[in-house]
Amino acid sequence: MIAGRNVLRHTVGLVLSAVAVSFALGAEKAKSKEPPVVRAAARSAADVAAVLKLAEPAPADPRPLRILLVAGPKDHGAGQHDYPAWQKAWAPYLAQSPRVTVDTAFPWPQPEQLAAADLLVLYRRNKWDAAQLAELEAFQKRGGGFVTIHWAIGADELPERFAARTGLAYPSAKYRHGIVDLRLVTTHPITRGFPATVRFTDESYWPLVGDAARVRLLGTSDEQAGLGDAILPIPIFWTHEPAGGGRTFVCVFGHYMWTFDDPLFRLLLLRGMAWAAGETASRFDALAVSPNRHFD
Ligand SMILES: [Zn+2]
Repeated sequence: MIAGRNVLRHTVGLVLSAVAVSFALGAEKAKSKEPPVVRAAARSAADVAAVLKLAEPAPADPRPLRILLVAGPKDHGAGQHDYPAWQKAWAPYLAQSPRVTVDTAFPWPQPEQLAAADLLVLYRRNKWDAAQLAELEAFQKRGGGFVTIHWAIGADELPERFAARTGLAYPSAKYRHGIVDLRLVTTHPITRGFPATVRFTDESYWPLVGDAARVRLLGTSDEQAGLGDAILPIPIFWTHEPAGGGRTFVCVFGHYMWTFDDPLFRLLLLRGMAWAAGETASRFDALAVSPNRHFD
């Protein structure tokens, strides 16, 4: 773990100088020569049960929790980055959980919505300009939980200031779609019970800016991200606790909508949401195996 962190810190340091070049490339806009991506077979019920069996008990009498889901205009083809469909599906999905109320905003919440929320979840490409960052900083300062899904970790305007909220941020740069063998650190409540490696078919982003030493890495993908295409562990899931307060959970996956129907992905995201809100991480575990499939 320590060695991994050192490698990662080195990586982030190395790639900072490449950021200016990366801006020109334009994340997700460049036409790459990637092979066709094929949806993986459905996750086996046995694999999911094996993880859930080791979960910590969900709280018997959870506190009321107000979740605010923020989406934005769709920016990719069918079955990808469908922020509006996610918001439409996940609002009632999360509201099934006891003592949870869900509010939605598109493309940015009103001040009174932020003021009322315990947990803010963004799935969209966002500007993260100074005004939005000031609102986020105030929200976290009063203890608000914050979750980014996929491109919501992108920050082209003020990446270092945004990275103070999230630990690491992604100025438009490189990416890869396809099979990702996610390597997990399983000693955190969010990853409890997971095997050391889980295969997904989604997307990874790099390089990231910020200070890798201040985040708690939960999942990485080995990518040809170093000098001479050297393999480096690239963060996919992590947590961060900003100095001023609040908790952040970052989920880089979420390119393909099929990922949201994978119970093990749902489990990671749901636990990240609960943890960021200051709750027992397993509070929403029961939702992960909900038969309600949204994006088939
Ligand atoms: Zn994507």
